[in-house]
Amino acid sequence: MSAVKKALELMKAEEVEYVDVRFTDPRGKLQHVTLVADLVDEDFFEEGFMFDGSSIAGWKSIDQSDMKLIPDAASVYIDPFYAEKTMCVHCDVVEPDTGEAYERCPRQVAHKAEAYLKSSGIGDAAYFGPEAEFFIFDDVRYSVTPAKVGYEIDAEAAAWNTDTLIETGNLAHRAGHKGGYFPVNPVDEAQDLRGEMLSTMKRMGMKVDKHHHEVATCQHELGMIFGGLVEQADNIQKYKYVIHNVAHAYGKTVTFMPKPMKGDNGSGMHVNMSIWKDGKPLFAGDKYADLSQEALYFIGGILKHAKTLNAFTNPSTNSYKRLIPGFEAPVLRAYSARNRSGCVRIPWTESPKAKRVEARFPDPAANPYLAFAALMMAGLDGIKNKIDPGPASDKDLYDLPPEELAAIPTVCGSLREALEALEADHDFLLAGDVFTKGLIEGYTALKWEEVYAYEHTPHPIEYQMYYSC
Ligand code: GLU
Ligand code: MG
Ligand code: MG
Repeated sequence: MSAVKKALELMKAEEVEYVDVRFTDPRGKLQHVTLVADLVDEDFFEEGFMFDGSSIAGWKSIDQSDMKLIPDAASVYIDPFYAEKTMCVHCDVVEPDTGEAYERCPRQVAHKAEAYLKSSGIGDAAYFGPEAEFFIFDDVRYSVTPAKVGYEIDAEAAAWNTDTLIETGNLAHRAGHKGGYFPVNPVDEAQDLRGEMLSTMKRMGMKVDKHHHEVATCQHELGMIFGGLVEQADNIQKYKYVIHNVAHAYGKTVTFMPKPMKGDNGSGMHVNMSIWKDGKPLFAGDKYADLSQEALYFIGGILKHAKTLNAFTNPSTNSYKRLIPGFEAPVLRAYSARNRSGCVRIPWTESPKAKRVEARFPDPAANPYLAFAALMMAGLDGIKNKIDPGPASDKDLYDLPPEELAAIPTVCGSLREALEALEADHDFLLAGDVFTKGLIEGYTALKWEEVYAYEHTPHPIEYQMYYSC
């Protein structure tokens, strides 16, 4: 049965009242419009739905604002939160006159990256396994007693040591700095919340496998099973949607910002990747860590273009507060099977089918469609141009002597640096017209606004450091 027929059957079986048309903007936020279900038939999936693109930051100007959304019938799911029965569908943006893919639509970029892999002859399928971490805090609007507003206590003060206990009193079972991974409840106080998040995803048809507390106080992670590039980018959007809304229903608030707490781990979105060709895993072989030569070249491409990738994988000013030594987030452009301190890790597995490379620098502020597409384009550039990643680094990179450390290149230190890197090195993204100059221009213009807003705003710490100068 075609995907459209299946979607229409689902509408009938579930007595759907509304259809929620969803798409992702350049910054990565899911947007939606809700239609009465009577309007949705076979033609709707074919012809799409007009909307005003000029209201979306980074898209069209007001004089050419009409744009069209084409629903992807294979992506439908029933919304778990709305009171009225609603079917959701993820869409691609097209030009209304020609029907061509809109070059600045992130989901279209992700489709083009999948097509480019096939046309390159390197592989016929790419699998992505993103691991997005997040923090759950009390929503202050719901807090009734000061004792409950534990998350407002300064991160420094929450550490389990006698000095801070004297200052702050008894913090009961709250996990201290780096103390969250993973004692049972009541230290882990979000078991039921995470369980409800994961079960909700499962009921929506997502393939999920686990949930756990992460290292930092109040930090968590839920596990999804790997899938295709567009499929997993869609899943990250659903993952965030479910996590935000379950938390909200319990008077909690979730943030995916990469470094919400000074002095404790930040939130990464590690991206596990593998390529298959003719039903066989291309990354399994007999080189370092049982990788193939292609996998090593793929790593070479990721490491070479890491600074450009940062503009998509670490797209916030806050992202660079996470990419510092000492918090399991990478700084150095190195790879290893053993340690977690480099940009790329090769997770241990005995199974050639599970052989994959893990990019550790991405974070969950990323637009997943653009980030996954950019990562794959960098890896494919590595394979095409046989980019040697050099020897693996199996030492703890945080503990290297200064002269060895200085020899290893780093990721970007700021969003400003990442945008400059993207402007200087992006030819590998333009291959196969996957990314276009227009998309890069629109995206960087949006991100420069964020850089200026950040750089031009006095920071609280500046008052502490300089007020009395
Ligand atoms: N939270 C760490 C990061 O910022 C990752 C911890 C882990 O390995 O799961 O990337
Ligand atoms: Mg983790
Ligand atoms: Mg990981």
